[in-house]
Amino acid sequence: MDVLVLNADLGPLHRVSLRHAVRMLVRRVAEVHEAHPDTQIGVWPVPTVVRLVSYVVTRWRHSRGPGWSRAGVLVRDGRRCAYCGGHASTIDHVLPRSRGGRNSWVNTAAACGACNQRKGDRTPSEARMPLRFRPAAPTWAAMAL
Ligand SMILES: [Zn+2]
Repeated sequence: MDVLVLNADLGPLHRVSLRHAVRMLVRRVAEVHEAHPDTQIGVWPVPTVVRLVSYVVTRWRHSRGPGWSRAGVLVRDGRRCAYCGGHASTIDHVLPRSRGGRNSWVNTAAACGACNQRKGDRTPSEARMPLRFRPAAPTWAAMAL
């Protein structure tokens, strides 16, 4: 069961697991915005939407965002392969490094070993392996919580 995380200005940020959302409530970085009726988890109604508290958001909004790392790419993509949706343990360079592709948020995506090997030194279109999403730089909110 996923929970939608809203920015303090109610702009949607990303989705997290219920467990993750409850941790945010415990740490008081978020408050329940919408909840399932008549259900309870600890002292909170079971949230469907949580809202970040403002002072945390202000800090994120003015920071440059997290730096690139292999581990960070796996976290950003929820360890889901960008090509087949299976469990990912490697990262793939969309434009291969051998052809000038950089270690950057927009050029890397989580991939399973099989897809990574199959794609090899090709671009997604050359390999006919479309990305399931467009890689993007994550916010601090998506990575740190
Ligand atoms: Zn895969």
